Amino acid sequence: MANVTVKNLSKIYKGGIRAVNNVTLEIADREFVVLVGPSGCGKSTTLRMIAGLEDITEGEIFIENVLVNHVPAKNRDIAMVFQNYALYPHMTVYENLAFGLQLRRYPTKEIERRVHESAEILGLTMEMLKRRPKELSGGERQRVAVGRAIVRKPKVFLFDEPLSNLDAKLRVQMRMELQKLHNRLQSTMIYVTHDQVEALTLGDRIVVMHHGLVQQVADPINLYERPHNKFVAGFIGSPPMNFLKGTILAEDGDYYFQDRGIKLRILPHFYSRIAQYKGQTLTMGIRPEDIYDKIFAQDARPEFTITATVDVVEPMGAEIYLYLTCGTNNFVVRVSNQDTAAMNQDLQVVFDMSKALFFDPQTGVAIS
Ligand code: ADP
Repeated sequence: MANVTVKNLSKIYKGGIRAVNNVTLEIADREFVVLVGPSGCGKSTTLRMIAGLEDITEGEIFIENVLVNHVPAKNRDIAMVFQNYALYPHMTVYENLAFGLQLRRYPTKEIERRVHESAEILGLTMEMLKRRPKELSGGERQRVAVGRAIVRKPKVFLFDEPLSNLDAKLRVQMRMELQKLHNRLQSTMIYVTHDQVEALTLGDRIVVMHHGLVQQVADPINLYERPHNKFVAGFIGSPPMNFLKGTILAEDGDYYFQDRGIKLRILPHFYSRIAQYKGQTLTMGIRPEDIYDKIFAQDARPEFTITATVDVVEPMGAEIYLYLTCGTNNFVVRVSNQDTAAMNQDLQVVFDMSKALFFDPQTGVAIS
């Protein structure tokens, strides 16, 4: 059980690449924190510095309030699970699980007890314990890799893209197993992924990174509903948030978002912040589920309605994604599978402007 504190952490690789840029995080005891961002954003480097596998250029790392900058990896009481499993191919599953404990000179009886306990938690049968890694499926191998971390009962678990090598179905299953595992072990877990769905489903809190910088730290709902900037807004959510370009127009005491074919009334709670952008072009963000086919809309007032052309209809089972064009703007709308909109049709769609976000054209920060 441990809290982890990262203070002003930076990593500059040879050649001057600033892979991690002044990252500060407070991770509470028992928390499940996910670092997420596109490839190359610095999440693995951050995790590896916490593990002690990478030197720190600047900043401090504390585990249980003890500065560990110069504590070697093996003395940090941390276990790490990697994407490529890193199992020993010539050892049986049992031996793989036992190895770390043998190195630390645990008594044989204790090793046996811990291996069987971990195997039971992860659903690894007695028969599987006798096999070698190559005789296991990808999912089973990943379970062994997790098991090897569990047997040590570390203060902190670190996961570096542990599910990336699994097929989609198995990933979903392992995701649920990791959630159950966290619930059962009640340990601090720090998890790195480029997959925003994995981040939303697993994290108590999520740290979104981009270009080595922390963009936002929030719980899944707040991250989705209140993204700090355009990067986070576009990165979290699938299909991604729509970004429409338009001008802020003031007319008869009201403000509108306007472009060719589009005139949408902005809601009054934005006025105090949006007024300074009058006449400027900026980006409005709106999620695909916050735009409705007019036939199904609750509030279809004309000032929230536009006409757009259906380019593509993508049936997804329970719902349909409609890809629409209006003027120079393209956007996607999520509708129920009862919707009968067809390709090339002109469709009236209603925007839930209470859900719209506006982004500062210079900084990309959400205006609301
Ligand atoms: P992520 O895990 O988000 O994909 P990384 O932390 O692996 O990103 O990498 C961050 C940046 O640092 C990338 O630009 C990457 O190319 C660079 N980088 C990673 N490892 C090294 C290294 N050993 N030497 C030099 N540059 C590196």
